[in-house]
Amino acid sequence: MVSEMDRIKCTGCGACAAGCPVRCIELKPDGEGFVYPVIDRERCTRCGICDEICHARCLVKGGAGRPATFIAYNKDQKDRISSSSGGIFISLARQVILEGGVVYGAALDEDMRVRHIRVETEDCLSELQGSKYVQSHISPGVYDSVSEDLKSGRRVLYSGTPCQIGALNCFLAGGQDNLVTVSFICRGVPSPLVWEKYLDWQQGRKRSKVRRAFFRNKDSGWSDFSIKLLFENGQTYRRRHTDDPYLQAFLKGVCLRPACHSCQYKGEQILPYCTDILLADKWGEVSGDLPGIGDDKGVSLVFLHSKKGYSLWDRISEQIRFTEVDFKQAVSVNISYRVPAAVSEHRDAFFSELNALSFWRLYKKYARSPFKTRLRRNAYRIAYKTAKKIGVVAAVKRFRNRKAGKPS
Ligand SMILES: Cc1cc2nc3c(=O)[nH]c(=O)nc-3n(C[C@H](O)[C@H](O)[C@H](O)COP(=O)(O)OP(=O)(O)OC[C@H]3O[C@@H](n4cnc5c(N)ncnc54)[C@H](O)[C@@H]3O)c2cc1C
Ligand code: SF4
Ligand code: SF4
Ligand code: SF4
Repeated sequence: MVSEMDRIKCTGCGACAAGCPVRCIELKPDGEGFVYPVIDRERCTRCGICDEICHARCLVKGGAGRPATFIAYNKDQKDRISSSSGGIFISLARQVILEGGVVYGAALDEDMRVRHIRVETEDCLSELQGSKYVQSHISPGVYDSVSEDLKSGRRVLYSGTPCQIGALNCFLAGGQDNLVTVSFICRGVPSPLVWEKYLDWQQGRKRSKVRRAFFRNKDSGWSDFSIKLLFENGQTYRRRHTDDPYLQAFLKGVCLRPACHSCQYKGEQILPYCTDILLADKWGEVSGDLPGIGDDKGVSLVFLHSKKGYSLWDRISEQIRFTEVDFKQAVSVNISYRVPAAVSEHRDAFFSELNALSFWRLYKKYARSPFKTRLRRNAYRIAYKTAKKIGVVAAVKRFRNRKAGKPS
């Protein structure tokens, strides 16, 4: 039964709780803050439905898929800047809303908890925009509401991590023409409890509640992204991903869900069969040129996996600047496409002291880079920014383009 399920496999998707006919499953957080199903044995009828719909048990893999692959970004600067990557999701979502549909995705609530919500107006779409580096909670009500929308014939765009899409597919048992799913290459989700502890620490320092949080702020560029917090008393906190305690804990793999370290949603045998559209960051060298690609405002990778994916992409293509690239090359430079995030040797110690130490001390002990690395990184950053300011970076780019026979 699902409650006896291996913690390494359970992704906390909540589909079992939503699918149980007598609703006797509740998702409860463990000591690390990740939710797992708990069954009320007295009410359980042993029907076995929860096992049947658990995606972690019934994952089906296909042959190696080779989707059409693009590098792309949104032509609208505002949409692009307020998104985590190239701002593709917002155009897909807006299109579905304009066609009378509804969109589901992850949003921060007033208490800064991350949950899946349903959006049916263009104004509310901004709540879904941007990566939230915390596991998003999906209540049974969300699964109910998706089912009702689909039954009523409404167009539905459902977005989330690949495992959340896999969970919805198993829950619905496939075949919905009016459903389009959008996911992303995923390195893992941190614990909501770790996020809560970080917020407590920040709120204590600023003596005020966090009003808004941005995990991928682009004020100092996309590649050098920061976390930005706005407080009720008007103060702001912004720190680069290389120096912020929470982002470092996330990136160093000390606070991810156990299932993320052995994630089943990796590679060409699963991702092309899981979701209609897959988005990602365009990191590293992918040959293919776009005007403005080097402006450091965010560029996405887009993988189209199905006719429904192609069709939606076609309908937004006027709003996007894009060019097709080689699939193999694109995934070869995005490690999270292929392999799960490595687990930090400090993970257990980090969680065992989560309640005892301040967030700053936890970070210093278990997630901060050594002094030499930080020094080298800062020296490189200053040198790069200076070279950019005085035009050396642009000159090198022009030289490279000329050598490769591209327009400069
Ligand atoms: C936890 C997490 C890990 C990621 N890891 C990688 C990675 O390793 N490599 C990579 O290339 N890209 C990764 N991404 C994806 C990438 O950063 C962009 O989010 C993606 O390319 C879409 O960008 P966008 O600009 O089009 O849209 P955006 O507006 O930035 O994305 C919004 C979309 O993200 C969804 N979303 C945001 N937070 C969550 C969440 N916590 N749970 C579920 N869905 C969420 C929203 O529902 C919406 O669909 C990750 C994203 C997240 C949230
Ligand atoms: S359905 Fe989801 S929450 Fe339930 S056991 Fe399976 S993976 Fe875990
Ligand atoms: S076996 Fe049936 S009744 Fe029992 S928890 Fe699973 S779905 Fe619910
Ligand atoms: S890494 Fe895998 S298991 Fe973890 S949230 Fe992403 S898709 Fe789900």
